[in-house]
Amino acid sequence: MAAPDGGSQTEPIPDPMMTRPLAMHMLHPKVVLNRVRPIRRGGNETRFAEWSINPYRGCQHACAYCYARRTHVAFDLDGAADFEREIFVKVDAATVLRAELARRRRSTWNTPIVIGTAVDPYQPIEGQQRITRAILEVLRDFRAPVHLITKNTMVLRDADLLAEIAQQASCAVFISITTLDAALARRLEPATPPPLKRLRAVQTLVARGINAGVMLAPVLPWLTDAPGMLEALALAAHQHNARWLTSGTLRLHPDVRPVFLRWLARERPDLLTRYEAWYRWTEPPEQYRQRVHGRMAAIRAALGMPGGPPSYTPQVVQLSLF
Ligand code: SF4
Repeated sequence: MAAPDGGSQTEPIPDPMMTRPLAMHMLHPKVVLNRVRPIRRGGNETRFAEWSINPYRGCQHACAYCYARRTHVAFDLDGAADFEREIFVKVDAATVLRAELARRRRSTWNTPIVIGTAVDPYQPIEGQQRITRAILEVLRDFRAPVHLITKNTMVLRDADLLAEIAQQASCAVFISITTLDAALARRLEPATPPPLKRLRAVQTLVARGINAGVMLAPVLPWLTDAPGMLEALALAAHQHNARWLTSGTLRLHPDVRPVFLRWLARERPDLLTRYEAWYRWTEPPEQYRQRVHGRMAAIRAALGMPGGPPSYTPQVVQLSLF
């Protein structure tokens, strides 16, 4: 990490938020299956899925740029330390989901259900709570197609279930990796496994018959997009048998921006002014987005990697099962 004057590497200033103890709050949701809201970009609306499930609220991984921080703000908590240390656990999510799927006509949910659209379903607390695993068991029983997004190698614990889902319906695991630079990843995403371990998780999942790819997102201006950085990460993903490579540039919602700018002030004060100028709104300048988009398209073409998993073809499921 460069010093503010561009000199040698400096030790980060300890972040007091990381020493705060974890508080768990048990939630009893009435609904677990949520409609995915469309994303508006440049006058266009895109919806990458119909349904999502988030077993937790808040995320211990504590990524500085996390867009989900705003979900805590909506509940009168702050998007900084509260988001990382006040974790809400949907304890009976699996029971509620089973009832929901049984109640709904299959045709209304027969597209991949995405687990982890807001926060990581394999954050450390899952090791003890096993809510994500219980949800996967229900989805396996209903032969539901599943997409799952995570930064944590704990996903390997559930490779048995994911392989069953892959065989019975469809399963795609997106492993999110922002950089190959382990030191930078440690600062940006303090409680996540190192990038190389995540790549090895992709390789293991694929070897177990589960479709897995890399989500190279977010691309952070001046931090992870230097010449060769995206290319090296894409090549490493390819060498670890990633089935696809998706990407996206950093978005900073107004509720998230102050948290990220505080992180920058601490870790890379030399970039603060540039970020303040570029992120007056949620998106970076359109020209930058197009440039990254073009660069990733060229990288994918050179490696022969698609930009996402194969599309799901609904299967006929015996009605007697339900
Ligand atoms: S792992 Fe995902 S949800 Fe968790 S803090 Fe990082 S970006 Fe946010």
